Amino acid sequence: MEHVVIMGSGCAGYTAALYTARANLNPLVLTGILPGGLLTTTSTVENFPGFPDGIDGYELMTRMQQQAERFGAKVKFATVDAVDLGGSPLRLTVDGDPVETRSLIIATGAGHRHLGLESEGQLEKKGVTYCATCDGALPMFRNQPLVVVGGGDSAAEEALYLTRFASVVRLIHRRDELRASRIMAERVLAHPKIEPVWDSVVTEILDVSQDKVTGVQVRNVKTNEESTLDCTGVFIAIGHVPNTQLFRGTLDLDEQGYLVPSRGAATKVPGVFVAGDCSDRVYRQAVTAAGMGCAAAIEAERYLAGLAG
Ligand SMILES: Cc1cc2nc3c(=O)[nH]c(=O)nc-3n(C[C@H](O)[C@H](O)[C@H](O)COP(=O)(O)OP(=O)(O)OC[C@H]3O[C@@H](n4cnc5c(N)ncnc54)[C@H](O)[C@@H]3O)c2cc1C
Repeated sequence: MEHVVIMGSGCAGYTAALYTARANLNPLVLTGILPGGLLTTTSTVENFPGFPDGIDGYELMTRMQQQAERFGAKVKFATVDAVDLGGSPLRLTVDGDPVETRSLIIATGAGHRHLGLESEGQLEKKGVTYCATCDGALPMFRNQPLVVVGGGDSAAEEALYLTRFASVVRLIHRRDELRASRIMAERVLAHPKIEPVWDSVVTEILDVSQDKVTGVQVRNVKTNEESTLDCTGVFIAIGHVPNTQLFRGTLDLDEQGYLVPSRGAATKVPGVFVAGDCSDRVYRQAVTAAGMGCAAAIEAERYLAGLAG
């Protein structure tokens, strides 16, 4: 029987592991298929506090793992396939084997929705990105034409943020008006550096043969006309998919699938806590995920102390 199982090994999971390990709870961290989480897929992280010169994403996550292990966290390369949160103890199926635990911290993260183009995958990190806050300030995007794909609040925010760096931001949306909230839409449309490209979808990202982004091919969905827009960066903001399918029907999810805690990091099931991007539809940053991991760990610790006492 485990005291705490942590699902996920991103910033949220490893921070929860560090705190629960330092509380002598010997947490079991189940890494899932992406040990170290999303940050391991990026190069330099420039906005995690404490690293004035930036730090490689993989190295940052390796350090987080080592820090948690130093205090007794057990890290296992394994995935939770099923959960039964209906009784006490909580029961998990982990790579086919049963695991019982008194408490569970869910830190399974969220993936980006992709356009689904082959060139998108081939040019990821070579100009194709999913996070303006993370990548917008990189030298390759400064004073260059940039493209944002999407029409919701995230796309609007990305476009506005990128106006600080870009020569022009072209916002490509498949409809003829933004889905974003009215205030965001007004700000975007009034901005002199943002040019909306309505009724249009990206059909190709150029140029795989040069191994970098040089432009996008766009099709107008009303006229079927194809055109090319020059740019050095494509910021795709068409939504996220939280990794929460296992909890559908058991825990509260919002309409996009994000876990909704009932108080702080606690869910409606005693002993089950949430942290990081799987329950954060707003910020989705490494440092916020880490902060939520800390909060979930402290709550789990108090919950377990209550059981013992
Ligand atoms: C390319 C890129 C660059 C980024 N750059 C920055 C940046 O510069 N600065 C910044 O602050 N943020 C950045 N981010 C965002 C940052 O990576 C996330 O906000 C952060 O990783 C969220 O941490 P998390 O722990 O919530 O989730 P994640 O890092 O997504 O980790 C989720 C974990 O859950 C595991 N998991 C999922 N399902 C299961 C399961 N069933 N069982 C067990 N484990 C499971 C996964 O294997 C993974 O280990 C970037 C994101 C990307 C994609």
